[in-house]
Parts: sequence; structure tokens; C-alpha cells
Amino acid sequence: MTDSKPMPTPNDCPLPRRRSDFATFAEAIDYAARSAKGLNFHDMRGDLERPYPFAEMRADALKMAYRLIAAGIGREDRVALVAETSPEFAALFCGCVYAGAWPVPLPLPTTFGGKESYIDQLSVQLESSDPKMLIYPGEIAEMAKAAADRQGCEGISWEEFAQADAPQADLPELSPDDICYLQYSSGSTRFPTGVAVTHRALLHNLYGHATGVDLGVNDRVVSWLPWYHDMGLVGCFLSPIANQASCDYLKTEHFARRPLAWLDLISRNPGNTLSYSPTFGYDICARRISSQSQVSERFDLSRWRTAGNGADMIRPDVMQNFVNAFAEAGFKASAFTPSYGLAEATLAVTVMPPGEGIRVELVEEERLSGAERDLSRPARYRAIVNCGKPLPGMEVEIRGEHGEIKGDHQIGKVWCRGESVMHSYFRNEEATNDCLVHGWLDTGDMGYLGDGYLFIVGRAKDMIIINGKNHWPQDIEWAVEQLPGFNHGDVAAFSFETEGGEEAPAVLVHCRVSDPEERVRLHEAIRDKVRSITGMNCVVELVPPRTLPRTSSGKLSRAKAKRLYLAGEIEPIRLLEAA
Ligand code: ATP
Ligand code: MG
Repeated sequence: MTDSKPMPTPNDCPLPRRRSDFATFAEAIDYAARSAKGLNFHDMRGDLERPYPFAEMRADALKMAYRLIAAGIGREDRVALVAETSPEFAALFCGCVYAGAWPVPLPLPTTFGGKESYIDQLSVQLESSDPKMLIYPGEIAEMAKAAADRQGCEGISWEEFAQADAPQADLPELSPDDICYLQYSSGSTRFPTGVAVTHRALLHNLYGHATGVDLGVNDRVVSWLPWYHDMGLVGCFLSPIANQASCDYLKTEHFARRPLAWLDLISRNPGNTLSYSPTFGYDICARRISSQSQVSERFDLSRWRTAGNGADMIRPDVMQNFVNAFAEAGFKASAFTPSYGLAEATLAVTVMPPGEGIRVELVEEERLSGAERDLSRPARYRAIVNCGKPLPGMEVEIRGEHGEIKGDHQIGKVWCRGESVMHSYFRNEEATNDCLVHGWLDTGDMGYLGDGYLFIVGRAKDMIIINGKNHWPQDIEWAVEQLPGFNHGDVAAFSFETEGGEEAPAVLVHCRVSDPEERVRLHEAIRDKVRSITGMNCVVELVPPRTLPRTSSGKLSRAKAKRLYLAGEIEPIRLLEAA
């Protein structure tokens, strides 16, 4: 087969090229194929399993595009792809882009929830994205087929799809305002919702983010983040392509089993590394370290230039633990690069300028939740992390209840505007109208600006409101997690309506204690803790470890925890009757 899409000649595009020069992402793929860079897939131990140069990826992507066209798929048709971190997904995603079809990355099964809940989630996402085809890795054929059948959508494994003929065909002309792909939000506060991302939005965000973190062509990106989440897809797959930077991958499930393989990979890179993770990734690694000698012998993190944090609340105490655990290996706290973003803005909205590290401001918890100061109790403070400055071309404003603009250090709703902000969710006008106001996106987060830097306080939807008084769930959760024996992610706080029609606070806590009497004491200690910080009596339930629900990208979902708890699907551990 010959390639009907000629390679750009070196004279057309001398390397390196500025990201802003591309009109569509297809041009960025063409361009990357001229470089010697590429994607590298590693096994569970971090050993290189499959190098995948961009040139090979592009050739495979063109074949995929021809196969899609031969299958009757073209402009604006959706193609759902179960997003395994693999060369096949990379080629299929780019193949859809070449064919003018819209790839829809969907999650792999996770260890949370069983087969049925995975099939349910996949079916709902197939229903809302209405694809012509679902393509999946062969190992999950049974579940994927079940979901595809339920929606009457064609399902095929990528092994089978790769066997189909790929007769050369004309590829459509693409323009910057065409949709490039659909990105689902994580589903922390609701069912994941599909964002339609245009080429223009994508390239704008890739350019802004690369400028923000000062990504150069000789930097390497190392990642275990899943490709069905924007941080993994945009930050660690599409960004390396558009910036002609190589990337080294570990599968997310392998990271979950052997987290330190992530740091092994970073240690082996002879040049500068950029690598990102939500707080929980840093937490897991810091907790895996059993001795300092292990650290200095095994790792060399001195060239880890950008250790990105985002996607969820950044916890300064956890980040400090990471620094303490890995300083001996040359890790520099100044490498931490907080950022804030969301699927509705393609990926990033703000990022900390390089080298500034984690900076916090201490704010009284009552001020954070807009409550009156209760003088009968000592003041409590939360360290709020500085999430950096808006990307070039992105505006951020803090708005009050009625849309009025708030001043410096005043807490309100975080709104943003810019070329990477979506125009709509896919086929969901109601949700679109709820968050887009005259081109401004209401992010659903609360925060404040201080000297042009953004500070995130929490998600408006997660706020607990009892008797007119507001409480942030994370203030309760983090306080409980300070008790001995708990880790980050062991607690979920929310409020629910009691049979009497009143709102009551509830706290679900992972319990690893087997002694029944010890459990009663623990239960009491948690109740006391919550009362001491909120002044309220609270329903405390001990639940088995690993039962609090996480999104497919690993974030705690309080909304789902509440739903499962009320439906009796999270079963609390019964306590001994009081003597
Ligand atoms: P859903 O919208 O489906 O409920 P989600 O909001 O978690 O899920 P994403 O778009 O993946 O889906 O995540 C964006 C959200 O993650 C932001 O709106 C914010 O709540 C949170 N987030 C991102 N970065 C940060 C950060 N640096 N600090 C605090 N929260 C953050
Ligand atoms: Mg969201």
C-alpha cells in the first residue's frame, strides 16, 4: 500500500516547530513523524517493551483511517475506543483524526466495582456518544461486546480490526473549528459528561501548557496516567506529539501494582523529565518506601524537572512526605508544579511557573466555607495550594452568586474563558447552558485569586450545608485522616437527607481494625474529631477498606459514595452494642 498523504518535506517545516503553527492536530501528527522521537511502552518492571516512533505511529494511523473509511465511517462519526495505554490505541486515535471521525476514549475496567458496573458505565457512555463502532483490546472482549450489544453498536477488538483491508482513500480536509475528539469528564460529581474538543481548543491548550511548563523537544515525558482521562490523554499523549517530545509509558494497572516502577523509569532518563500525577500517586510512592538506603541506591530523581500536580485537591502534607521520602534520591521540592484544569477547558487552566514549587496560604476554615467565625472554638486553618497563573490566552475571574466579579483574595466561583474552553458538551444542551455564560465557563469550583495566582478551595457541589452553615468535606476528611492508622483517601464526607427531611452529615471511613472493641473506640474518636471541627454530631460509618468509590481516573467520588451508601450498596461494619 502506498501512502496517499505525502510526508511534509523538511523544507516545509524545519524542526523544532512552534505548536501554535499547526492548524489542526492532524498537522501536528504529520510533523511529529518527521522527528526521530516517539512513544515508548514499558512493561510492569519498567523495561522497554515496544518503542513506537512517531513515523511508525503515523503510518499505522493512516492505515487505520483507511480501514475506518472502508467501514463507512467518516466525518463527525464517533468511534469509541477503550483507551488502553498501547500503540494500538495511539494509532486508532490518530487514525480517527485523519478520517475526520471523532475518537471517544473510554475507560478500561478498574479494580473498583465489578464486571457488571463496568458494562453499565460503558453502555451509558456508548448511549451518550452514539458511536458507529466500539473498538477494544481483545482481553476485555466479553465485557465490551456486552456493552456494545446493549446499545446496538458494532463492537470489534483491535486485533480483528487490524486484519481488515485498508484500501487507500481520500482523507477529508480538516479545519481548526472541526471537533477533534470527545473527552469525558471524570465523573466525580455526576455521571461522566462528554466534552466536544475542537482542533483549535486542543492546539491552544497544548501550546499554552507547553509554554507554561517550558516543555522543550529534548525533554521526556514519563507517565502512568490513563489515556481516558484528560491529564493522561492531553498532557502525556497529545502533548508529546505536538511538541515532538518522546514519552515513556507504564500502564496504569502496572503502576497500581508496582508504583515505584514509575520512579525507576524517571531515574533511567538521562535528560530532563516531566511527569505528572494527582496527589494520590505521590502519596502511594512515599508510603512504599521502607528505608532511606533503598531510596538513594535505587533512584536518581535529580533530573525530574517538572513534577506536575493537579486533577484533584493538592495536599501539601502529602507532597512534603514525598519530598522527605525522596530527597536522598535528588528529588527537588522546586520541581513540583501545581496546575488546575478540567475537561471543559481541554486540560489546563492555570499552571505554576517553573521552579516555584508548592506555595501555600493558610486560610481559616470558616472563611473558606463562608461561615461566621464561631468564637467558642479555636480557629482552624487549611493550607491552600497556589495553582499557578492562567495559561497564555486564558482568563480567570472569581464571581459571586449574581455573577459579580470578586476582588483579590475574595472567595467565589471560578470562571474561565479562552480558546481552549469548550463550546458545548456533546448533545447535552441543558448541561452546556448550566455552565457556559456568554463564552465564560463556570467551572463548578470555588476559589480565589491572589496577585494573579489561582487558589482552589473545593467543588461547589460537594459543599456540605447544615442548618445554613457550610462545611467543606475535605476539611472533615483530612482531619479524620490525621488520626493514627489512616491514609489519604480513607474518608468520604457528605450530607444526606434523613427520614425526617433534615440534612445530616455523614462520614464513611475505611476501617482496617479487626478487634471489635478497638473499633468502637475508633468510631468514638472519629465522632469526637468531627464534632470538634464542625460542632456537629455526625453519622460515622466504618466501612471495609477499598469500598469508597473512585472515578476511573482514581479520584474519590463523594456523590457516588453517598448514592451507594443510601442504596445499601456500601455496607457499614456493625459495631459491638454498647455494654
Ligand atoms: P465531573 O465533572 O464529571 O464531576 P471532574 O470534575 O472530576 O468530574 P475532570 O474534568 O476530570 O472531571 O476534573 C476537573 C476537576 O478536578 C476540577 O473541576 C476540580 O474540581 C478538580 N481539580 C483539578 N485540578 C485541581 C487542583 N489543582 N486543585 C483542586 N482541584 C482540582
Ligand atoms: Mg467537573
